[in-house]
Amino acid sequence: MLPLVFGTMIEKIDSSKLIFLTYESPTLQGFRRRALRTKNEILAYLIGEVWNDKKGGMKCAHIYELYYPELAVSNPDEVRPSECAPRGSIGTIHSHPEIGTLGPSLDDIHSAILEGEKIYGIYSYFTREKGQRTIARTQWFSPNRVVVVN
Ligand SMILES: [Zn+2]
Repeated sequence: MLPLVFGTMIEKIDSSKLIFLTYESPTLQGFRRRALRTKNEILAYLIGEVWNDKKGGMKCAHIYELYYPELAVSNPDEVRPSECAPRGSIGTIHSHPEIGTLGPSLDDIHSAILEGEKIYGIYSYFTREKGQRTIARTQWFSPNRVVVVN
């Protein structure tokens, strides 16, 4: 596994192993607000585009909006939609409430591959002690590339 990619390090990595992600910030802020209102995992489909940049042969992705499907399961450890992915979906984002570790679970990795997700996001958050600020982080993954958020 490659480590997280920051700034100048990116230039040392074969760009065919990367996917450059941009998104509409208010959309993602909306997801975070929704996630923090419940102790259960929530999920949304990422409506966007993935394309090859003509110049550098780079893979790019942009998220325009989120679609919140009806959920078949939504508990503190699991979330599952009861609808098919809508047209234009390039992946999903889901939350990990109150989990001290960051990153995807094995189930997350497997389902991203099986569902053909190009990109998936995980919004993890936890409160260290009562009254302390919630620690939160959104991480992006791809089944076959390292995601670089632009
Ligand atoms: Zn998960």
